[in-house]
Amino acid sequence: MALFVQKYGGASVADPACIQHVARRVWRTRQLGHDVVVVVSAMGDATDNLIALARQVNPNPDAREMDMLLATGEQMSVAILAMALHALGAKAVSMTGPQAGIFAEPVHRKAKITRVQPDRIVSALKAGHIVIVAGFQGLDPFEDIVTLGRGGSDMTAVALAWALQADRCQFYKDVTGVFTTDPRIVPEARQMDEISYDEMLELASMGAEVLQSRAVEFAKNHAVRLEVLSSFEDKPGTLVTAEVGTMENVVVRGVAADKEQAKVTILKVPDRPGIAAGIFQALAQANINVDMIVLNVSAQGQLADISFTVPATDLAQALKVVAVVVPEVSSAGMTHDQGIAKISIVGIGMRSHSGIAARMFSALADHGIDLHMISTSEIKISVVIPTAQADEAVRILHREFELDKPPTVVVDAPGGKTQVASRDQGA
Ligand code: ADP
Ligand code: ASP
Ligand code: MG
Repeated sequence: MALFVQKYGGASVADPACIQHVARRVWRTRQLGHDVVVVVSAMGDATDNLIALARQVNPNPDAREMDMLLATGEQMSVAILAMALHALGAKAVSMTGPQAGIFAEPVHRKAKITRVQPDRIVSALKAGHIVIVAGFQGLDPFEDIVTLGRGGSDMTAVALAWALQADRCQFYKDVTGVFTTDPRIVPEARQMDEISYDEMLELASMGAEVLQSRAVEFAKNHAVRLEVLSSFEDKPGTLVTAEVGTMENVVVRGVAADKEQAKVTILKVPDRPGIAAGIFQALAQANINVDMIVLNVSAQGQLADISFTVPATDLAQALKVVAVVVPEVSSAGMTHDQGIAKISIVGIGMRSHSGIAARMFSALADHGIDLHMISTSEIKISVVIPTAQADEAVRILHREFELDKPPTVVVDAPGGKTQVASRDQGA
């Protein structure tokens, strides 16, 4: 008998029929003799609707009150799913994050989980119940409800899978697994059988919303076995696993687009040591995640423009922080741009293959796509481009790296010759 944590996202619990479908699937797993802990998101677009509701009464709602409001979305789903399971004759009990023993830091809207104390879940499982836990929420040290950032139910699921030593943490979705890119943008995208934690982490951090990046990072650090599969079809999904040697043979595994980005530029900052540190410390203190940073020193070498990207949702807060810093560093002011997107290619094979950046840039240039910023890591290359060209750029790169075809494996043959073979043909 195994223990599974199964997470169902918003699309999988969007309406009563979907919830009944989820209930049947969960019940089937239980009837096979397994223990099941289910984590659910809010129904459909409930979280977006709650955010819109709050904005109707206050354009800048207080973060604590937002968390009180947003947590109700998941609380609704757990109760309804428990009722649907009862209707099938199953023993099931719903729990909020705090009832499930999920404790988090006192940071509203994007708290990190600090501790999981799943005693109550364990006793309910022992008593033969299916346990249904509200994702995306925890209790902070002041006994306030905090939420875990957008997509945070994934984090709840992974943290519970770890705390309960589950055999597997399964994510049931409206897609059948992890694809080479978002199949909504590129219908020819291919599903992968497996992907390494590192590649999944980069894709998720770079905008592939299929899994929350924090959840993948936690899973990697604690070796939690993840599986992404369809909540509507019975098909094998994608396993997210530790890296194995042959994975390096695929140079580009996937393409991700993040259209929820914004760029801030601080103009003509004196080029003195410590200035950049001061600006980015102030942003870090405000819990703003800065991603790409570009420093353009002028020809005279005394003044620099500093540009950086932040999630669009953090833009207002970032501008507030920078507005305080600008007079302190005697810069000439700031500008911002919300019409930008970040496009990334990811693959652990990049570690050992060169020329990938050049190929990416020329493919985009050939189609007249201007690059505003570039950044790289060992296994990723990202560019910032106008949002209007984001989908086109994804399609261009997907084609350029032939991701619509079975993965090609680059084999270093004896004598220094390189052979290219398809993995589907057993290479
Ligand atoms: P859930 O609500 O279950 O958490 P999400 O909506 O967050 O699910 O994630 C699933 C969506 O992620 C899919 O509908 C798909 O359009 C999108 N997506 C983006 N990139 C990828 C990818 N590389 N593979 C699969 N799905 C992707
Ligand atoms: N309901 C939350 C969101 O929409 C959390 C989640 O679905 O994971 O972001
Ligand atoms: Mg999600």
